[in-house]
Amino acid sequence: MSRWKWTVAYLMLMALIALAAGLCGRYGSGKTCEMDGQELSPGLRVDLKMADGSGYAFCSIACARRWLDRQPDTLANEAVVRDALSGEPLDAYVAFFVRSKVVTNPTNGNNIHAFQYRTDAMEHVRRFRGQLIADPFEVE
Ligand SMILES: [Zn+2]
Repeated sequence: MSRWKWTVAYLMLMALIALAAGLCGRYGSGKTCEMDGQELSPGLRVDLKMADGSGYAFCSIACARRWLDRQPDTLANEAVVRDALSGEPLDAYVAFFVRSKVVTNPTNGNNIHAFQYRTDAMEHVRRFRGQLIADPFEVE
């Protein structure tokens, strides 16, 4: 193959990669928040799976909650949050939520923290004058 053909092949490959990356970002599995477009941090991200099977990722609990409030159908089928200490994913059903003076993200003012263990949640409450709150994603 001539050098010119290699160049064309290379450019086409790059274009394909860019296209694939763009599509991923557009359909929720990308790396930015669905609500405010901020980069997702692995320790704070929230994943929502809606009743119709679509999925969305958010940079914080505040963003996920705000976004849900704007939807005509606010029932999230499944919410996966991250433990504030370990960053491990956990189902919102089993997580403990604390609202405190600690803001994880100044841009969206997120002050809700998720914990896997009640002891960790209570420790945060005690240290940062927080309070335990109900699961923000609870389906009524
Ligand atoms: Zn966000």
